[in-house]
Amino acid sequence: MQGRQDRNVRRTRVKTNQLTGSRIGIIGGSLGGLSAACLLRDAGHDVTVFERSKSELEERGAGIGLLETTYRYLVDRAKCDVSAISVETQHIRYLNRDNSVVHDSQHHYLFSSWNTIYSELLQHFDRDRYLLGHHCVDFGSDKTSAWAKFDNDLEFTGDLLLAADGIGSLFRSRLLPDAQPRYAGYVAWRGMVSESDLSAELVQRLGDAITYYVYANSHILVYPIPNVDGSNNRGERLINFVWYRNYLEGGELDDLLTDSNGQRRQLSVPPGLVAEHHVDELRAQAQGRLPPILASLVDAVEQPFLQVIYDIEVDRVVFDRVCLMGDAAFAVRPHAAAGTAKAADDAWAFSRAFEKHESIDTALAEFEPTQVQLGRELLERTRVIGHRSQVENTWEPGDPDFIFGLYGPGK
Ligand SMILES: Cc1cc2nc3c(=O)[nH]c(=O)nc-3n(C[C@H](O)[C@H](O)[C@H](O)COP(=O)(O)OP(=O)(O)OC[C@H]3O[C@@H](n4cnc5c(N)ncnc54)[C@H](O)[C@@H]3O)c2cc1C
Repeated sequence: MQGRQDRNVRRTRVKTNQLTGSRIGIIGGSLGGLSAACLLRDAGHDVTVFERSKSELEERGAGIGLLETTYRYLVDRAKCDVSAISVETQHIRYLNRDNSVVHDSQHHYLFSSWNTIYSELLQHFDRDRYLLGHHCVDFGSDKTSAWAKFDNDLEFTGDLLLAADGIGSLFRSRLLPDAQPRYAGYVAWRGMVSESDLSAELVQRLGDAITYYVYANSHILVYPIPNVDGSNNRGERLINFVWYRNYLEGGELDDLLTDSNGQRRQLSVPPGLVAEHHVDELRAQAQGRLPPILASLVDAVEQPFLQVIYDIEVDRVVFDRVCLMGDAAFAVRPHAAAGTAKAADDAWAFSRAFEKHESIDTALAEFEPTQVQLGRELLERTRVIGHRSQVENTWEPGDPDFIFGLYGPGK
């Protein structure tokens, strides 16, 4: 954070080449914000990340399907070995209710965890420019600059603000009040268990594949991810599940989202705070509806948690010198495993546009239509997948339309 005087000094110094010395504030230090921060810092910009969390975000999140765009910075620029930050699977497998295999095809996927990718990206950004405990509470912009205010009374003024503040974005809610999250009709129940806490049979059957079970108006998927300490050796990893279940909007959803302290949550109920009767019901449903090996996995998770699935669509992302990116722009359903890849793609799109153009305004004018188009297409594809699973029941085991990918199935 610098005072106005310092900033003027900096601006005078970089006047001759604005796009290598722009002063950029990024609000939100998760995977999208950090990817943009690393890329724009590499391009010679003066970048500061403001994250509301008071501590590093290491305990957050669970498994992610790891698409190339999400790890591109780490591999191309930071020279990380992707095999060190991921778990590889070779099969897509669908089970019957009795544990037998209804479909098994060879398919190569990488999985990781939010923590693993976050810690790695953070190592490649300047720690003194990653400011924790900065909750943005107000912002503004004109044709040439933007400012943000934080709950600790600090302020930032720069040439550009990137809003990477996620699905509950303050920026989107102020700039596009009509772009309200639309409940998809279901939530994702999630949980992880260490392989060392599971039977050898479970580890053997679930450790080399993404395993699905599809039944009436629901589906669950299971895959291995690195452990919290990053370990990805077989036997030391976590097995992660994501189980999509329908809840009626209104009383049923309200009850689910009322945590064990009686607080009504909006987007998710974190581990340890889901009301006990819902955890009991989840385990009973698992016994009643899932193949026994998946029911055993769900049962073994000590603190299942849940995230509500919302669609958010916007028709623009640039507002003078404020730009929305990642989930702050579009929030898409997770069925393409492409949310972090979309956020990282936004970061790469900034980087390309900033390299090509001589002014921020022309760079943003190139950025906006391509990224809005990408968000729209991804949202529509994930909506169709969700509808086919949770409403229409037209998801056949092995359907190639459901292969993960940012730009299309498998792409
Ligand atoms: C069930 C489920 C499964 C998923 N599976 C996958 C998957 O397999 N693969 C995949 O790629 N993606 C997956 N996703 C999507 C992925 O988690 C998101 O798309 C991704 O995290 C978006 O990144 P982001 O950086 O835009 O926002 P976020 O990760 O939401 O980060 C926003 C950041 O902004 C901070 N912040 C918010 N408000 C403020 C403020 N006012 N001031 C300062 N800081 C603020 C927050 O603390 C947070 O750190 C899944 C999502 C769900 C719900």
